Amino acid sequence: MIRFDYARPTEVAEAVRAGAGEHVAYLAGGTNLVDLMKENVARPLEVVDINRLPLDRIEELDGGGLRLGALATNADTAYDERVQARYPLLSSAILAGASAQLRNAATNGGNLNQRTRCYYFYDTDTPCNKRVPGQGCGAIGGVTRVHAILGTSDQCIATHPSDMCVALAALKAQVQVTGPAGDRTIAFEDYHRLPGDEPWRDNTLKAGELVTAIDLPAENFATHHTYLKLRDRLSYAFALVSVAAALRIEDGRIAEARIALGGVAHKPWRRAEAEEAIRNEPPGDKAFDTAARALLAGAKGQGDNDFKIELARRAIVRALGQAAAGTPQSHTDKRIA
Ligand SMILES: Cc1cc2nc3c(=O)[nH]c(=O)nc-3n(C[C@H](O)[C@H](O)[C@H](O)COP(=O)(O)OP(=O)(O)OC[C@H]3O[C@@H](n4cnc5c(N)ncnc54)[C@H](O)[C@@H]3O)c2cc1C
Ligand code: SF4
Repeated sequence: MIRFDYARPTEVAEAVRAGAGEHVAYLAGGTNLVDLMKENVARPLEVVDINRLPLDRIEELDGGGLRLGALATNADTAYDERVQARYPLLSSAILAGASAQLRNAATNGGNLNQRTRCYYFYDTDTPCNKRVPGQGCGAIGGVTRVHAILGTSDQCIATHPSDMCVALAALKAQVQVTGPAGDRTIAFEDYHRLPGDEPWRDNTLKAGELVTAIDLPAENFATHHTYLKLRDRLSYAFALVSVAAALRIEDGRIAEARIALGGVAHKPWRRAEAEEAIRNEPPGDKAFDTAARALLAGAKGQGDNDFKIELARRAIVRALGQAAAGTPQSHTDKRIA
């Protein structure tokens, strides 16, 4: 048995004090962290259970946005009437992920910070730079069906597994954090990072920092949006490729486009040039293919996952077409209490 200390603070400041040490992990819904601890992948010396912190509300923001508490569950967020009406792209992305039971336990903060699903990361008999810095990467030259085609490094080719985060990237959300040095706001595009030569760092949180909320801006793309997720089976599977597409269409032309990809990189993949390339164009396959090619420029497969490049191109064109037509994918499964 591996021993660890356990704390269950009731105030945020107390949690941050407890989280400031070495080898500390915050515990939210536990749907990822507990699995990692059981598999001996995560070995925290102290677990700070944050479930009693008052961070589970969804609140209006001045200016028309919404603040999603870090401890609001994925289910409560996806089924919140304001999220469903004003941010259907986000609701749809969350409901495309995991299972109803998992979404009832999983929290928004935990979803942002969930670890990769690279097989080698979970297999402690194989080398992994993310698990043990400097150990090597078992995936490079190995089985790479689920791995990245963009933004890889020679130390890590893992992807970020979240669906929710792909929609948050397209919506240009902001992440509110607090920590030993105080509060700060991180633009969503700066929250997750590419592996580079520090693949063990998934995001830009500093030691001891706690996510307290995610802010959604007023601009919501409620009319023209879609979340398209392609995977090996229709539920309870991570994305091979996913697309969050959002358009603002004025006078028959694209006034603004947002496109983010999941399943292809170490972070939700967006490129301003791809979105800019179709501004003022009439919506249609020609423009959508232009955006897809710009977004995928430089994509490189690892062998087993070469198919993702063409799959992603087609998925982007399809998702943008559905968004333009106002016919989003529907994830209609009912809430299970
Ligand atoms: C079988 C299975 C299938 C799944 N399928 C999908 C899927 O298709 N799509 C998808 O998106 N997800 C999927 N998931 C992942 C699931 O969404 C995540 O496990 C969940 O969102 C994590 O949230 P949690 O609250 O349980 O986090 P925890 O497990 O409690 O924590 C996860 C990580 O986040 C850190 N953390 C938690 N909260 C905070 C905070 N507030 N501030 C800083 N750090 C924090 C923890 O320390 C830990 O490192 C699946 C999971 C399972 C088990
Ligand atoms: S791809 Fe990244 S997570 Fe997977 S084995 Fe290599 S270093 Fe580890």
